[in-house]
Amino acid sequence: NRKYHPDDSVVEIAPGVSVGGERLLVVAGPCSVESEEQITAVARDVKADGAQALRGGAFKPRTSPYAFQGMGYGGLDLLEKARIATGLPVVTELMSTDDIDYFVEHVDVIQIGARNMQNFDLLKRLGKTTKPILLKRGLSATIEEWLMSAEYILAGGNPNVILCERGIRTFETFTRNTLDLSAVLAVKRQSHLPVMVDPSHASGQAWMVERMSLAAIAAGADGLIIEVHNDPVHALCDGQQSITPAQFKDLMDRVGRVAECV
Ligand code: PEP
Ligand code: MN
Repeated sequence: NRKYHPDDSVVEIAPGVSVGGERLLVVAGPCSVESEEQITAVARDVKADGAQALRGGAFKPRTSPYAFQGMGYGGLDLLEKARIATGLPVVTELMSTDDIDYFVEHVDVIQIGARNMQNFDLLKRLGKTTKPILLKRGLSATIEEWLMSAEYILAGGNPNVILCERGIRTFETFTRNTLDLSAVLAVKRQSHLPVMVDPSHASGQAWMVERMSLAAIAAGADGLIIEVHNDPVHALCDGQQSITPAQFKDLMDRVGRVAECV
């Protein structure tokens, strides 16, 4: 709450890499880790274009039980290889309390996905760690519910919470979700926590990602998390919303220019 923390908090995710305050953090990478070649190639490309951290899911919350569920622990190993190859810290989603200890040891930022935003057991357990947690807004969560979920982690003693607006459910079906950019302003007024935006899951469409990213920066977001794939057409998950490394490079140029103006 701003009343008790008037200054913006800065969360350090790896030595020299942080989010909040004056810095803008850009996290990029595929929806899911698919192979060593794929994750290391994307990691090298996004790093060359200025991303400061790598994303990639190993445990995937899929709507259909028959869809690709992620590579699991094998995927986490490949993320570690990509980190060694590029130096990029890794952000990846945790779904089960069973895996917390392993994640704490092997990943840099633990993502809590929209579907688990109110998994209170998970939140309480993460409050007992000091890991940076990227807490995504629930599918239909109000801002207050989202902040209360953050509070579970903070109240447990972990100050390293990063919020992520990723679009909410509305009546609109043209886009996968509706990006609620006013939530960025609302949260930043009430809370000291850094707020990132995920334009990929918000829009669900690759061609919208750049403009939505620029809008997020203009709205005051502290960072972006963007799905980038070296072969979106053949991606095992979320290919239609994934941009290519070449598109990511253009996006980074423009993001840099908008960030200078705000
Ligand atoms: C993801 O980042 O791959 C993801 C599943 O996101 P969300 O939880 O926002 O749907
Ligand atoms: Mn995805």
